[in-house]
Amino acid sequence: MSVFTKLESEVRSYSRGWPVTFDRGVGSVLHAEDGTPYLDFFAGAGALNYGHNNPVLKKAVIDYIERDGVTHSLDMQTVAKRDFLETFDEKVLKQRELDYKIMFPGPAGANAVEAALKLARKVTGRESIVNFTNAFHGMTLGALSVTGNSMKRGGAGVPLVHATPMPFDNYLDGQTPDFLWFERLLDDSGSGLNEPAAVIVETVQGEGGINVARVEWLRALSDLCKRHDMLLIVDDVQMGCGRTGPFFSFEAAGIKPDIVCLSKSIGGYGLPLALTLLRPDLDVWEPGEHNGTFRGINPAFVASTAALNEYWGDDRLEKSTLAKGEQVQRVMTEIAEAHPEHALKPKGRGLARGLQFVDGETASAVCGAAFERGLLMETSGPDGEVAKVMPPLTVTDDEVERGMGILADSVATVLR
Ligand code: PLP
Repeated sequence: MSVFTKLESEVRSYSRGWPVTFDRGVGSVLHAEDGTPYLDFFAGAGALNYGHNNPVLKKAVIDYIERDGVTHSLDMQTVAKRDFLETFDEKVLKQRELDYKIMFPGPAGANAVEAALKLARKVTGRESIVNFTNAFHGMTLGALSVTGNSMKRGGAGVPLVHATPMPFDNYLDGQTPDFLWFERLLDDSGSGLNEPAAVIVETVQGEGGINVARVEWLRALSDLCKRHDMLLIVDDVQMGCGRTGPFFSFEAAGIKPDIVCLSKSIGGYGLPLALTLLRPDLDVWEPGEHNGTFRGINPAFVASTAALNEYWGDDRLEKSTLAKGEQVQRVMTEIAEAHPEHALKPKGRGLARGLQFVDGETASAVCGAAFERGLLMETSGPDGEVAKVMPPLTVTDDEVERGMGILADSVATVLR
């Protein structure tokens, strides 16, 4: 029995689908300890947009550690944090005419979400948050309360309250006007809806099954929030940092959320870092009112700064992500057309793609077959019915072709 099976909690999950022991990672490839290479189309659930051990980021981190740069600093001022703030302002915010204060809420995506929810409640004096069907925002109690998945919600062990789910884009029949139900409830003083402090949304639901919100739906949501005095929180933890093409996933819709959550790839190197971006007038925190030990992991600042300098000074990464996304979409469409009786559905935007099967068992079998052929892919969706393709954005065209070839083979084997 391996030490993982013997000692590690039953809660472990990814290691069950990929029961090998990984040792090295380079670019889009993870190597098991016996040397077997695996093409990584999971990319740390979106935390490795720049690939494993990206050489530019690696050099920056090694140089920083070599010169005894401060590693841990709570929220003290450091040179690494100053460089990060200045670079983020220059390369990301100013370029997009976005005016946000930057809060470091703790290292994980769930920390960014908890801070956003807390702040929305503090600013508005209201308790209720509106979330969407099939949303995923993290596993802490506040984030879980705005998450849809019943199995994950069940793990809370206490009632998850102060959140009201509304239909995500295309949840109904496609014929019902967008926000018909939501706006009716807001307008009707007899509806029983508690006045919401904020609405929290993912522009593409990563864990919920790669459900893409149309840009017009996002615009209408933003207008609705303005009309009804609700803050708009975009959770860009998984879809931010270029995953859908532009740096922020909401850029395509031309909206300006009041609060934005970022984590995963903002740390650049797979190092933990999260940001909650807030409209400056919402910055009503008292010093220390939201706190935490790991809000200043300087190697993450260093890697993040290097990534922003390397990849976000021009639009090359954005363009290549969109082009590679089209390449993935084309192959997925061919796979679907090769198996018309199985009603496969390709979905996604940029390099967040999914192939929807009729059930979770089929999608899981496809991911299993892909693993046997040297490709790491995960399922998502309420029943795990979507096989997700999320390679690092730095993946080469050749690797995309190879990975998609493996996916096509795996689907053909499972559906035979
Ligand atoms: N929000 C979104 C959209 C996510 O996809 C995730 C994780 O997958 C989270 C929040 C939670 O992030 P973390 O697992 O770092 O707490």
